[in-house]
Amino acid sequence: MKPETTLFWDVDTQRDFVLPDGRLYAPGAEKIVATLGAITALARRLNIRIAGDVDRHFPGDPELTRNGGPYPDHCMNATPGQRKIEQTAWVNAVDIENRPLSDAELDAAIAHRGDLVIEKQHVDVLRGNCNAPRLIPKLLRNCRDLVIYGVCTDVCVDFVVRATLGQGPKLHVVTDAIAALDAERGKACLESWRAASVELLTFAQLKAALTGTEAGATDSHESFFTIRDDSQESPYFISAEGAELFALSSGLARFLYDDLIAHPHSLAVFV
Ligand SMILES: [Zn+2]
Repeated sequence: MKPETTLFWDVDTQRDFVLPDGRLYAPGAEKIVATLGAITALARRLNIRIAGDVDRHFPGDPELTRNGGPYPDHCMNATPGQRKIEQTAWVNAVDIENRPLSDAELDAAIAHRGDLVIEKQHVDVLRGNCNAPRLIPKLLRNCRDLVIYGVCTDVCVDFVVRATLGQGPKLHVVTDAIAALDAERGKACLESWRAASVELLTFAQLKAALTGTEAGATDSHESFFTIRDDSQESPYFISAEGAELFALSSGLARFLYDDLIAHPHSLAVFV
């Protein structure tokens, strides 16, 4: 798997799905947060583009219980629950809203140097955004490997797998970076994906495939940290070497840096 021909697809890693107090929480999803952060950091380090979809709901959306649909209010527009978790925050993202865009606008979004976000109002990305059926084949044109992760396994992740299957790239789903709304349905999805020749792999196996290292081997450049500056909208990521410089220049005590190194992927520094 080569970073330059790989695309990551982050499915709905929004607070309402991932956090225990979220409106449509996938049980156990908080356990995958560290891995979601590690996947995102790996993409930043290897310059792998992150695309993905997010729910953005409005009061009239048919999938909401209040309109006769199956789901309670969740990811309502501009609410805290609609926001991504910090570990997977978009960086320099272009938003594809659910309103008709021209081919030129879609091409410009694909050429954009940053994350690409498909907003949707339906569990199926192909139905939830009117641009998705034209955008996805364009997005995957030069992609050999598509890596999918996020929530919920048995709903939106499954729809992304189905929307991208047979479009060209080999599909990979990161099994320790997904969480199901319903455990049994989640297991059934894994079986159907495997039967469709989707590769199921762990984050360690993904990292090994992309970096050419053995799964489980330590990588001296592996430690990445999230730095959040409240004056900036998005957090940014720095390497271990950068973290050391940051820790020293910002007056953080040396022991804090050593503590960071001992817990890669799991700590954020707030400034
Ligand atoms: Zn929804």
